[in-house]
Amino acid sequence: MPLYNSIDSSMLKAKLIAEPFARKTISLYRYFILHNPQEFRDQLYLEWNDLNCFGRIYIAREGINAQMSVPEYNFEAFLQSLARYSIFDNIPIKYAIEDNGKSFYKLSIKVRPKLVADGLNDDAFDVTNVGQHLSAQEFHELVQTGEHIVVDMRNHYESEIGHFKGAVCPEVDTFREELSVITEMLKDQKDQKLLLYCTGGIRCEKASAYLKHHGFKDVNQLHGGILEYARNIKQLNLESCFIGKNFVFDERMGESVNGEVISHCHQCGKPCDVHSNCANELCHLLFIQCSDCAQKFEKCCSSECRDLKNSSETEKQYARLNGNFKFGNSKVYRKSFRLVKIPNFADSVAGQKPSV
Ligand SMILES: [Zn+2]
Ligand SMILES: [Zn+2]
Repeated sequence: MPLYNSIDSSMLKAKLIAEPFARKTISLYRYFILHNPQEFRDQLYLEWNDLNCFGRIYIAREGINAQMSVPEYNFEAFLQSLARYSIFDNIPIKYAIEDNGKSFYKLSIKVRPKLVADGLNDDAFDVTNVGQHLSAQEFHELVQTGEHIVVDMRNHYESEIGHFKGAVCPEVDTFREELSVITEMLKDQKDQKLLLYCTGGIRCEKASAYLKHHGFKDVNQLHGGILEYARNIKQLNLESCFIGKNFVFDERMGESVNGEVISHCHQCGKPCDVHSNCANELCHLLFIQCSDCAQKFEKCCSSECRDLKNSSETEKQYARLNGNFKFGNSKVYRKSFRLVKIPNFADSVAGQKPSV
């Protein structure tokens, strides 16, 4: 029995389209401690390949993160396969809302050093000692009281276009930075109730365990993240405490939750929540740009970038060699671009800016 898929992808896609049965698209994740991730991976591969499951699954010494599709006729058998492992006990399974079942065409299970790159030494604390999971409704009610500390565990470019009202939104570019900034910023408030949230919930799993390890007493997290919250709010017809757009890494770069635009064009300052990457390939900076500025700057972040984009190949080579481009990372925000600041909880409560 092969442990990896070796068939050509175009054939696999054709096969998927021709399938005479339906699939359910689901996702699940959990932190737990695995001593032999490779062995676990191979076991799951054999079982799930047998069940004709597809998906992209990551396994690490710290747990599992899976996005997958399961044939409906095998769904019961799939649940039974999960039930064979105690680490999957009561694991919440999220079902895709818009589901055509064609999200994956093969099964890929990879062993990775980490589920989320966080730069932490996991042996230093118990990653399974996570915070209290709150349903979207419970979270909604607690946020509304305004009495608790709401913490956005995402990066600045994500929270800038949308966040919970009154949330602490540190100006950080990485999850690792976020953890240390939050720990420092709230170090005198360890007895208070913390309400953590992120996009889909996985970052909060790690963050809550980390904060508990650092002495925070009452750590809670939004189960299923903003994605689940947005779905719930719509279903129950409640007024959203999340304002603006939920940033997601696909071609849309975000989905509006309550229709408000809370961020601004980084170039002219007018309301805008559309992220772009600078069209100068040497820069490629991620920033917010309105359509007028996109036209004016030819989709570049600055006139310098526009000029370089339009320059000759030799000039580009020269610029590359002289590498004055510190930014060339599409996921890093240029900090000097923060023309417009969102007044946030952190400023008023901690009375200081996070040191980033
Ligand atoms: Zn603009
Ligand atoms: Zn640029």
